[in-house]
Amino acid sequence: MTLVFVAWIVVWAEVNDAQVSAAYQQTLIADASSVAAQLAGRQDMEKARLREVASRLSIRTGDANAVLATLPEVVAGLDRLWNRLVWLDENHRLVARAERKAPIVANATEELRIQTSGQADHLAVPMVDTNGKQAGQLLARYEITDLLKGTDLVWLNHRYEVNFLSELGEVIATTSDPARPPHGQRYERPLPGFKDTTLQLTPIDSIVSWKQNPRTLALLAGLLLLGAAASQLTRREMRQVRRAMDDTQNEAAWRQSMEDSALVGLRARDAEGRILYVNKTLCDMVGYSRHELVGLKPPLPFWPPDAVDAMMARNLDTLAGGAPSTGFETRWKHRNGELIDVMIFESRLMNSNGNHIGWMGSIIDINERKRLEERDRHHTETMAQHARLNDMGLLASELAHELNQPLTTIVSYSAGLNMALKKVPSLDPEVIAAVDEVSRHARKAGDIVNWIRRQTSRSEPVRKPYDLNAIVSDVLGLRIRQIRRVGAKLVLELDSRLPVVMADRIGIEQVVTNLVRNAADAVASTKGERVIRVATECQQLDGRDQQTIEVCISDNGPGLQGRSIDTLCTTFYSTKSDGMGLGLGICRSIVESHGGTLVAEEAAGGGAQFRFTLRTTPTGNSPETT
Ligand code: ADP
Repeated sequence: MTLVFVAWIVVWAEVNDAQVSAAYQQTLIADASSVAAQLAGRQDMEKARLREVASRLSIRTGDANAVLATLPEVVAGLDRLWNRLVWLDENHRLVARAERKAPIVANATEELRIQTSGQADHLAVPMVDTNGKQAGQLLARYEITDLLKGTDLVWLNHRYEVNFLSELGEVIATTSDPARPPHGQRYERPLPGFKDTTLQLTPIDSIVSWKQNPRTLALLAGLLLLGAAASQLTRREMRQVRRAMDDTQNEAAWRQSMEDSALVGLRARDAEGRILYVNKTLCDMVGYSRHELVGLKPPLPFWPPDAVDAMMARNLDTLAGGAPSTGFETRWKHRNGELIDVMIFESRLMNSNGNHIGWMGSIIDINERKRLEERDRHHTETMAQHARLNDMGLLASELAHELNQPLTTIVSYSAGLNMALKKVPSLDPEVIAAVDEVSRHARKAGDIVNWIRRQTSRSEPVRKPYDLNAIVSDVLGLRIRQIRRVGAKLVLELDSRLPVVMADRIGIEQVVTNLVRNAADAVASTKGERVIRVATECQQLDGRDQQTIEVCISDNGPGLQGRSIDTLCTTFYSTKSDGMGLGLGICRSIVESHGGTLVAEEAAGGGAQFRFTLRTTPTGNSPETT
C-alpha cells in the first residue's frame, strides 16, 4: 500500500516536473520576446526622432554643418544615443556631419555591464525636399551597447544572466555576476532589428527536479519508512484483533455449548415480554426452534389454549416484577400436544450499563418430579387402602369365625325342625318348604363364611369342575327376590352346550351375585320396562383346542357413562349411598385368579353390560353338583 502511494507520488512529481519545465521554457521564450520587443521599440523611437530631424533639415539653408550641429533634436540625439549623424545628398555625397564628443553615461541599466563596444549599427531615413521629392538621406550611427544602456533590463536581472552576443560570439553586454552563477539551460534568439546580434538568457535559478531535491527525497524516504512502520504496526494490530476475535468466538462457542448442555431451559425477554434469547434445552422442552421463538411476544405458542388468560395475567405480573423469587410452577404445552409441568425462576436482566432491560427466566422441567410425586401419592393411597382392606379382612375373618357357629346351629335346628314337622299330621306343606328354605340359606351363608375364612387365611383356592349354568341358576334362585322387588324382567339365555369349568364355586357365585345385584340396583331407576339379561356362551378360541366360557350380565339401567372398568374397580369407588365400593374389585380379582378377564361396556340398547370369561376344564372331568 505504502509502495503504491510512494509510486503514485513519484509519477505525480515526474509529471509535475515536466509541466514546470514546459512552463519555465514558455516563460523564458516570453521574456526573450519581451526584451527583443523592448529593443525594437527603442529602435523605432530613435528612427522616428531621426525622421523628425530629417524633416527639419530639409527646410533650412546656410551652413549645413552648423545647422546640423545646432539643431536641438540633433544635440539631444547625440546625447542620447547617436555617436555620429551623416547627411548625404541624393548622390550620396556628404552634405554635413555631426559627432558626439563624450561617451554616454548609463542610467537605467546600472546592472548591465557593457563588456565591449564597437559593435555599431545605423539608422537611415530619407530626406524629402519641399516638393516632396527624395533629396538624399540622413544616417545616424550608434553603438548597440549605447542602445542597451538606455534600456531598462533590471527586471530581467533577478531571473536571468542576460548576454548580448556579437556575430562572432563576443559578449557585447552582460548582467553576469560571479556571485550568482547561472544554472539553467541557455536560451538564445537573434534580435531581428539589430545586425548580427543575439540575445542570450540563462536562468540563475534552474528548475530543480524532485530527484535533485533532497527534501523531496527525504520526504519520500520518510514516507516509505513511515509506511513500513505503519504496515508493521497494522499487521501486529490485525494479529491482535484476529486473536481477540478467535478468543471471542471460542468463548461464544463455549458459552453456547454450556448453555445448550444445561439441563435448565433459559430464556431472556425484554421489558415487553418479547423473547430475545432461548437455549436449546428450552427449545427441546417446548418443541419449537430458536428461530421460531426469538422475537415472539405473549401469548406464546406453548401456552395451553385453555389457560391463555391466566398465563397472560401471570406474564403481566412477572413483567411488573411480581414473580416470586422462589419460582412458580406452571404448565406448558409441547408442540406435540403433551402437557409439561415447569418451574420458572425469573430474575432481572441487566445491560452493560447496569440498566434493567428485561427478565431472564430459568425453566426446570418438573414433569418427572410431578410424576414421582403422583406415584408417591398413589402409593400412599394404595397403602392406606390396603391397610383398610387388611383391617376389613381381619374383621371379615373375625365375623366369619363368629358367624360360623350360629349358622351351624341354624342348619342343625332347621333339620331337627324339619324332621319334627314331618311327624305332624296335615301340616301345611308350605311350612315345611319354608323350613327347608331357611336351612338352604343358612347352609349358603355358612359356605360364604367358610370362603371368606379361606380367603383371609391365604389357603390355596379350591378348584373343582363345575357346570357354570348350574352355578348361574343357583345364584339367580337366591337373587330372584331382589330382581322381583325392583320389578325387573329376567331374561335368561344359557348355552346348553357349555363345557365343564374348573372353578372356585363360591368365588364364581360371588362374581355372579355381585353383577346381578348391581344390575338390579341399576335398573331400579329406569322408567318403563326394566330388564336384566343373563347369558352364558361357549367360545372356541381360534387355532387352539381350548374353549372359553363367557358369562354376560346386562341391564337397561343408566349405563357406565364413560367410566372405565379400572375406575369402577377402584377400591371403595361407589355411587350408591349404601355401597362399599368393593364388589367389582373383588369380582375382577376372582375372575383374574381363574385366568379370565372382566370387561365392562355400554350395552347395545343402552345400559351397562359386564362380561367375564373362564377357561374350560380338560375333558374327562365330570362336574361337581352344587
Ligand atoms: P357398590 O355396589 O358397593 O357400589 P361395586 O364395586 O359393586 O360397589 O360397584 C361400584 C360402582 O359401579 C357402583 O357404585 C356403580 O356406580 C357402578 N356400577 C356397577 N354396576 C353397574 C351397572 N350395572 N350399571 C351402572 N353402574 C354400575
